[in-house]
Amino acid sequence: MEISTATFVISSPKVEGCPKPDMPEYAFIGRSNVGKSSLINMLTGQKNLAKTSNTPGKTQLINHFLANKSFYIVDLPGYGFAKVSQNTRASWEKMIEKYLKERENLVTVFVLIDSRHNPQKLDLDFLRNLGEWGIPFNVIFTKADKSTQRDAARNAKMFIEEMKKEWEFIPRSFMTSSVKNLGKKEILGYISELNQVYKEEKSAN
Ligand code: GDP
Repeated sequence: MEISTATFVISSPKVEGCPKPDMPEYAFIGRSNVGKSSLINMLTGQKNLAKTSNTPGKTQLINHFLANKSFYIVDLPGYGFAKVSQNTRASWEKMIEKYLKERENLVTVFVLIDSRHNPQKLDLDFLRNLGEWGIPFNVIFTKADKSTQRDAARNAKMFIEEMKKEWEFIPRSFMTSSVKNLGKKEILGYISELNQVYKEEKSAN
């Protein structure tokens, strides 16, 4: 699959402001600076669809983009800002939890992990929350071009080993580089498969 059209739909401060849940939806989340905007731009083939390098913690909006007029790509505000207040963090958590739990058309959450680092507690904690809430997710390792292939693969493996300590089933993960277009085909192929399943389930109901 290719994304031939991708347009900005709306930025919502709350889940209530999101578009009608009438199409399958894929959310992207991760620490600030993990490469989320760059990844969304790579997947959609547009340079400036998602805004790269926003001021950390300033805007906490749920951003909807419509792809191929048939599914939503959702850019969620990042976590792990060093300098945000307790209040900001609490409101982020509340908003994200509500969005993830209530958005009935959410097919999976892509959690982005920087492939340059060892497994980080903050990311593992976030995945644990998803598990507790019963939200399906996949992991996307980012910035593969920034280290050697061997180091990126080793960090990804270590992260998955950490996950195995807590999870029986490890969902599919992807290695990506937005600079090299690495992982694009795989992620879009996966979304296309999930779109098909979504369609079949809808027509069966
Ligand atoms: P966000 O805050 O998660 O949306 O991250 P951005 O997409 O704004 O990326 C943060 C920084 O990392 C920017 O300077 C990007 O140019 C850079 N970056 C993002 N993805 C990649 C990548 O795959 N490779 C390299 N080399 N740099 C990247």
